Amino acid sequence: MAFKHKNAKRIEGLDVNVWVEFTKVAADPSIVNLGQGLPDISPPSYVKEELAKAATVDRLNQYTRGFGHPLLVKALSQVYEKVCGRKIDPYTDVLVTVGGYGSLFSAIQGLIEVGDEVIIIEPFFDCYEPMVKMAGGKPVFIPLRYKTVIGNSASSADWVLDATELASKFNSRTKAILLNTPHNPIGKVFTKEELQVIADLCIKHDTLCFSDEVYEWLVYKGNKHIKIATLPGMWERTITIGSAGKTYSVTGWKEALAQALWIDFKRMDDPDCYFYSLSRELEGKRNRMAELLQEVGLKPVIPDGGYFMIVDVSALNVDLSDMEANQHYDYKFVKWMIKSKKLSAIPLTAFCGPDTKKQFEKYIRFCFIKQDSTLDAAEVILKNWNNPTS
Ligand code: GLN
Repeated sequence: MAFKHKNAKRIEGLDVNVWVEFTKVAADPSIVNLGQGLPDISPPSYVKEELAKAATVDRLNQYTRGFGHPLLVKALSQVYEKVCGRKIDPYTDVLVTVGGYGSLFSAIQGLIEVGDEVIIIEPFFDCYEPMVKMAGGKPVFIPLRYKTVIGNSASSADWVLDATELASKFNSRTKAILLNTPHNPIGKVFTKEELQVIADLCIKHDTLCFSDEVYEWLVYKGNKHIKIATLPGMWERTITIGSAGKTYSVTGWKEALAQALWIDFKRMDDPDCYFYSLSRELEGKRNRMAELLQEVGLKPVIPDGGYFMIVDVSALNVDLSDMEANQHYDYKFVKWMIKSKKLSAIPLTAFCGPDTKKQFEKYIRFCFIKQDSTLDAAEVILKNWNNPTS
């Protein structure tokens, strides 16, 4: 289907992708697919069991800490403390994203300014170039060069960076270098000496290093994976990217919902299809939430869809005069309500641009996709709203 609108300028020329093209072609089961890095070995059974177990704990199926589940960042910090031989703070040094792509994209978007130069070592995992361009950065390429070797077998170690050539790529516009070790596609594991050359240049020119190390555990006998972040002066300028999908050969876990969708697709003409039954269940909760708010004298905006309900809380006449003056009413109200009533909601001005904040600042948003016991607890709070002992 031809789409009516043109792509954003910043992605011009980025519309082809080798994985899209070849994954499609190789999907034919008669093809022996040795293309995409797609393990068809079985992932360790304990890993699959842990996924199954996690799925049975309702709490784990919902939002968690935005930067990574506390248990996950703690496990990661322990593993990498051991690897790096230094303290790693699980809450400030580790960020969990969806896939290696997610972290590369976030790191590049978050740190590259328009016009910044980013050095990319060729050959390179194909997404580096578009990601740098999407951030408005300029890719500066340097090839790994093949050094002639005597004998009849070549090695990934024969592909090397020329130190002088690399130095010539750095200048005052250089913001970062993108390193990939073990390297995709060559398989090169950068030695400590090679990493030191890169590190020296990063330090000299005060640049960042994005170090894609998703194959970190896949290192063969006689070789050692070294993290550039562990070299002196590099910790504070390196973002290291790892991947659980690669570590455990579970590259498809981003797609774990496909089976559930199939089940509901097949019963889409049946009222028990989850797509319809959930809203039936929620309608009762919506009505209950509305009644609870009406009972305290408020006029909730009854939603026709979704699982949020906004309500103007100004009629409650809460005295917020001792709260921070430079905040909108809704922020102050919600902070007060959490503290004094042990009930939380979201202030509406969080959803507004500067020109509409005033219009919505008396509103807060409640979410009603909650167990009856949670709504019961909210009911107790709301019923006792005017009771000073509550
Ligand atoms: N990283 C994998 C590879 O190089 C797959 C990449 C992808 O499918 N996007 O083969």
